[in-house]
Amino acid sequence: MTAGTPHLTVVSGPTAVGKGTVVARLAAEHPELYVSVSATTRPPRPGERDGVHYWFVSDDRFDEMVADGELLEWAVVHGRHRYGTPRAPVLAALAAGQQALLEIDLQGARQVKQNWPSARFVFLAPPSWEELVRRLVGRGTETEEQRERRLATARTELEAVSEFDHVVVNAEIGQAVGDLVALLGL
Ligand code: 5GP
Repeated sequence: MTAGTPHLTVVSGPTAVGKGTVVARLAAEHPELYVSVSATTRPPRPGERDGVHYWFVSDDRFDEMVADGELLEWAVVHGRHRYGTPRAPVLAALAAGQQALLEIDLQGARQVKQNWPSARFVFLAPPSWEELVRRLVGRGTETEEQRERRLATARTELEAVSEFDHVVVNAEIGQAVGDLVALLGL
């Protein structure tokens, strides 16, 4: 890609690495970047707003979006709810000359890689396995069994790093955002 060409960037990585926090900070600091708002069937958490954090949709509406080809990619995340990237706003942003960024899970990133190989794929990595475990466990009120399952999943997710073009280590949020800014040339 030549400098100045609108570009699609996919940021992905293991659960609890801090993708959402890093991308939210990047978006706040760089309004010129289009950051996709995903559709999801999960209910909103307190403080989350429709159209800002997600488009909160019913199962029926999600079915329709899939059937009508409205989504660039979609996946069932954590075996529960569906999440997907609305295609039209991404295409509109790129057509308007903006860079576009998706923060999605690994299954979604693989789909984009199939359909959009020229996109830039960034893996957000934890500084260490111990720190990832701390962040995963720190989240929670879950049972020992759920915890073990999450750790097993995280181990597999880390192996996906080799599928990506770039790695950004999220040791400290300001530094991770800075690395992304440099990578995107913002
Ligand atoms: P949460 O429910 O905590 O907001 O998000 C759970 C996970 O869903 C995160 O790992 C996030 O990367 C992923 N996710 C959010 N939006 C999308 C999307 O549009 N597509 C895919 N494949 N994953 C998503």
